[in-house]
Amino acid sequence: MGDRLTTLSGMRTPGIHDVLTAQRRIDGLVVRTPATTYAELDRHAQDAGAAGASLVVKHENLQHTGAFKVRGALNLLLGLEEAARRRGIVAYSTGNHAQGIAYAARHTGTRCTIVMPTDPNPVKERAVRALGADVVLHGATFDDARTHAEQLAPATGARLVAAADEPALVAGVATATLELLQQAPDLDVLLVPVGGGSGAGGACLVAAALAPHLDVVAVQSAASPAAHDSWRAGELVTRPNRTRAEGIAVGCGFGLTQGILRERLADFLLVTDDDLARAQRLYLTGARTVAEGAGAAALAAVLAHPDRFAGRRVGVVCSGGNASEAELVRGLGAA
Ligand SMILES: *Cc1c(COP(=O)(O)O)cnc(C)c1O
Repeated sequence: MGDRLTTLSGMRTPGIHDVLTAQRRIDGLVVRTPATTYAELDRHAQDAGAAGASLVVKHENLQHTGAFKVRGALNLLLGLEEAARRRGIVAYSTGNHAQGIAYAARHTGTRCTIVMPTDPNPVKERAVRALGADVVLHGATFDDARTHAEQLAPATGARLVAAADEPALVAGVATATLELLQQAPDLDVLLVPVGGGSGAGGACLVAAALAPHLDVVAVQSAASPAAHDSWRAGELVTRPNRTRAEGIAVGCGFGLTQGILRERLADFLLVTDDDLARAQRLYLTGARTVAEGAGAAALAAVLAHPDRFAGRRVGVVCSGGNASEAELVRGLGAA
């Protein structure tokens, strides 16, 4: 997969060179997060029906801001011209993209406005404000916030940073997969939670260049299946967006990432929101790990589709840990 136009977005698809450049650019600014095995998780996966499976958790919940997105945000902002940074940026997000962007904006001295849906996860809203971003609460969903940000940016002269159709974001978040392949070169399959698709797209870029044997499998909530349905249909579709897991609550497919997924993704699995809660609980009890709903999606997919993972060494991206208190209580209650 090289430097060529994708038919879906007209944007240049990043290649492994962009990922290596990103890694150098953000080196020392992001955590080289652990890739850890847990006997309890393996036992649960095997009991669920994945005989002989073994899991490796990539702990992006321990990344700065509690999610992988800061990798892409730092890569994007550090790559902008000084003049562009001075004009400021506008982003829209349910929280973790916002935190990543706000973190990178603070690091680079960039003025930053974030549009979040009204009624955001309070943990995420507080963190974004604490990082110094201007927060605008607008619209009921991610998709409403997006529309507002798309109007706000041109009105203020700021640059709009989209959630997924940004080659620099995809290349930046792909550094997590680059690390993981060094930490666990023997993976057969890598499971990545999907909202806009930057994480899974990045994983596909790295796998295509460095690990041709590795199956990258995307996971989404059946309550917000736009990326899944876009991939299966081979065109960008919009879908109801009702998942409780705001990190993957997206109602449309994005062209750049869908173009990458179309070329390289091995499969796309759906899980229910209850599967997410059960996986959050297992992270808490079996791995002493706090995962938000989206962050637990990859583990949820192993437990919900165990036959696909029998006998395989499975990379499980724990993409974020910014669970609200209500979410943790619900997770602990999940049977
Ligand atoms: C944003 C996010 C995702 C989805 O990532 P995309 O790159 O938008 O597909 C998954 N998990 C968490 C915790 C996130 O913050």
